[in-house]
Amino acid sequence: MTEEIHLPQIETTEIVLAMPRGFCAGVERAIETVRLCLKKNGPPVYILHEIVHNRHVLKELEELGAVFVEHLTDIPKGGICIFSAHGVSRKVEQQSALLGLKTLDATCPLVSSVHRMVEKYHADEYDVLIIGHHNHPEVEGTAGRVADRVHIIASEKEAMDCQVADDSRVAFVTQTTLSVDDISGILSVLKKRFPLIKGPASSICFATQNRQNAVKKLAEQADLILVVGSKNSSNSNRLQEVAIRQGTTCFLIDDKEDLQPLWLDGVRVVGITAGASAPERLVEGVIKWLRERGDVTLRELAGVKEKIHFKAAESND
Ligand code: SF4
Repeated sequence: MTEEIHLPQIETTEIVLAMPRGFCAGVERAIETVRLCLKKNGPPVYILHEIVHNRHVLKELEELGAVFVEHLTDIPKGGICIFSAHGVSRKVEQQSALLGLKTLDATCPLVSSVHRMVEKYHADEYDVLIIGHHNHPEVEGTAGRVADRVHIIASEKEAMDCQVADDSRVAFVTQTTLSVDDISGILSVLKKRFPLIKGPASSICFATQNRQNAVKKLAEQADLILVVGSKNSSNSNRLQEVAIRQGTTCFLIDDKEDLQPLWLDGVRVVGITAGASAPERLVEGVIKWLRERGDVTLRELAGVKEKIHFKAAESND
C-alpha cells in the first residue's frame, strides 16, 4: 500500500508568467552549436569557459561529451574548441591557432557586432570605454578585441577617473546584458566629461531589454517574483534587480530545489520569469512545486514574441 504524502499547503492562488522569459536566440544558437558539433565529431568537444551561464545546461552538455576548460592549454593538440556565447579576445583566437586547435565560434552575433564597433572606433583612433562588469567574460572578450586605448567602466567613479588620450576622441559601448538603469548614471558622467563622446544609445541586446520590460510588467501584478537563473548569469541578476527596484520582493533561484516555503507566507500572486540562459523545464519544475502545495491557477502575461533565430555555427571540415 502506498502512503499518500501531504505537503504543507501555501497561500498562493495564482502564478503569473512573464513573456518573454528564458532562452534567447544567442543562447539557443550556442547550445545548438555544441550539440551539432558533438553529433558530427563525437566526444570529446572542448568548450572554453561556460558555454552559457546556467549549470543545468552545462550538466546536460557534459553528459553528451562536452568538456569545459578554463585554459586553451587544457585542450590536446588537434582538439575541437568551441568559444562560448560571451565571445573571446583576439589573443584567444591567436593562441588557439598557435596550439593547433580546431575552433568553432559560438559567440552570440549581437556580441560580435559590439566587437566590430569597438574595432572600428579603435581603428579611427578613439579611446573606447566599455560600460560593463570587470571579470565578466563578455566584457573581457570585447576589451580584448583591440590592443590598447580600451577601458572597462563599471561605476560612476571609474567614469570620473578614467584617463584618455584625447577628450574629443572617445567612444563607448555597453555589455549586452546590463539594464538601462545600470548605465544611465555612468553615461551621464561620461557625457559631461566628454561632450563629443560617440556611441550607440546602448548595446543592451533586444533579449535582455524584452525580459526586463516583461519583469517590470510582472512586478505590477505579483506579490513575489522568482527569477529562474544561475547566480553567475548577468542578465538573470539584472532581472532580479529590476524587480526589486519596482518594489517587489524577488529571489533568484537555480531551480525548484532552491524554493523556501517561508517565502510564500502571505503571498497570493507569484510571478515567474527566467534568465536568457535558463531552460523552460526549470520554470515548469517551479510551477509543479507550487501546484503540489496549493490550488494555484496559471496565467501568462501578454508580451513580445521573439522571432529572431540565429543559425548554429558549423565547422567546414
Ligand atoms: Fe545574445 Fe543577448 Fe542572448 Fe547575450 S542575452 S546571448 S547578447 S541575445
